[in-house]
Amino acid sequence: MDCIFCKIINGEFNTEFVYENEHVVVFKDIHPKAPVHLLVVPKVHTASLNELEDKSLMGELLQAVKDVTKKIGLKSYRVQINTGKEAGQEVFHLHLHVLGA
Ligand code: AMP
Ligand code: ZN
Repeated sequence: MDCIFCKIINGEFNTEFVYENEHVVVFKDIHPKAPVHLLVVPKVHTASLNELEDKSLMGELLQAVKDVTKKIGLKSYRVQINTGKEAGQEVFHLHLHVLGA
């Protein structure tokens, strides 16, 4: 499968992970739209929120948002999930944008 986020997760680009656990990795967006712009990405390939069936993974993703923002001391932020091409989704591997000051 030709998925850029799967390749990042597999370490093919030596991307630095800001945070990692059993279920997710977090790395900086390459084109930041805010002073802090992180991507929280599940290790299991899922094309978008529409394909996500594992409810527990939703909890893991939001818990990872809490954990990584606590780790870097970011108290104020927005979380965004672009779902579908018309909504601006470019990478079809589910990810949460974390946008903070
Ligand atoms: P979306 O539009 O929600 O699919 O967001 C995809 C995001 O992935 C965009 O904000 C891109 O800047 C970001 N992105 C694409 N390739 C990379 C990469 N190699 N490393 C980090 N972020 C990336
Ligand atoms: Zn993938």
